[in-house]
Amino acid sequence: MCTPVEFTVTTKDRPLMIIDGYCYIQDRRTDDKTYWRCENHKTFNCHYRIHTCNSTITSTHVKILKQNGNHTTSCSRDQIKISLRKFRENIVDRTYNTQESTDRVLSHCVSQLSDAARIRLPPLDHVKRTIQKQRKKNDLPQVPNDVNFLNIPTVLQITKRNDIFLRIDTEPEFAPAWNPQNLMIDFEKAVMNVFSTSFPQASLSGCYFHLRQSIHRQLQAQGLQKQYEDDIDFAHGIHKIAALAFIHPDEVTDAFTQLSTHLGDTFQSMLDYFEDNYIGRIRANGSRTRPLFAAEFWNVHERTKNLQMRTNNSAEAWNRRIKCVFQCSHPTLWKFIDKLILEEDSHIHTKICRVNAGEPIAKKKKYQYLDKRLHNLVTNPYQDIINQITALAHNIVL
Ligand SMILES: [Zn+2]
Repeated sequence: MCTPVEFTVTTKDRPLMIIDGYCYIQDRRTDDKTYWRCENHKTFNCHYRIHTCNSTITSTHVKILKQNGNHTTSCSRDQIKISLRKFRENIVDRTYNTQESTDRVLSHCVSQLSDAARIRLPPLDHVKRTIQKQRKKNDLPQVPNDVNFLNIPTVLQITKRNDIFLRIDTEPEFAPAWNPQNLMIDFEKAVMNVFSTSFPQASLSGCYFHLRQSIHRQLQAQGLQKQYEDDIDFAHGIHKIAALAFIHPDEVTDAFTQLSTHLGDTFQSMLDYFEDNYIGRIRANGSRTRPLFAAEFWNVHERTKNLQMRTNNSAEAWNRRIKCVFQCSHPTLWKFIDKLILEEDSHIHTKICRVNAGEPIAKKKKYQYLDKRLHNLVTNPYQDIINQITALAHNIVL
């Protein structure tokens, strides 16, 4: 169930979620969930809390996992307060991200307010002065109107520590000086084609998280989701199919054949799906067709053995982070570079310093155990392939 929602930030820049006229401030956030509490939890001691799901969140809808408590009688839906919040957010957004004059920024934002909200605005001169002050602090050169502009301003070529930030400036061409050896991408044929054409020498591998996701989506498409949730043995069988990702690529086809016999009829439709996409259909003469994704692409046996990463989730996490950093969907080009420079200094440089000083790259305990178990199984496999698959499957969830 999805609930319509609006997001903004508090004056102290904390994420704020508006549902049904009530405002909730972000409290804690884990990988899967975000915890929110009523904005009045301090003023009126309101204990209303909401937990939302991170993976399904959009800018207009959230999935509420849990809500508990009651709002106090002093908590009210104050629509004017909400529209004033949005007004402030709009002002900041246009101040930073457009070239509009102070008056235009102000009149544009004021025009969206109701009369009742205008009455509660701070004096307009104050707002104007804030805009001008912010602009001064944040002066960037004029953005070019022509796509063939000559060069990037010097201030945008260096990091905050006066290091080189602009590494290369070329004609529009896809990463001409980049020569990657390994690329990990999602299971999308179109993306694969672009990368294999642009970087013929690079080896492409599929993200293990996306492989599991594809299997999961197929389960749902076949109407097997409920059986997967309710029936432990059925779920374990599905995990055995996913476990093929950890079998040596040379043995995958044989392992698949044995697994098909071992699993039997209940799993036929799922095995067919896996065969078509990842193994290759068997021909009349016993050979196999080319699958949509070859085993070399989706298999993670080598990666697990060499303790390399199996997913590109870290890149996706960075994508989400960057979206927050921009806080607007169409920054000017200079603004875009400027924010990247800020991010480089505050976040990335700090991380690099810490890692250089010996700070371990922390993985959660439960993932550490999981990694160790999978590594053990891959380096000291069971002789019998079905035993090996069964053992691997115990470490898999979709
Ligand atoms: Zn409340």
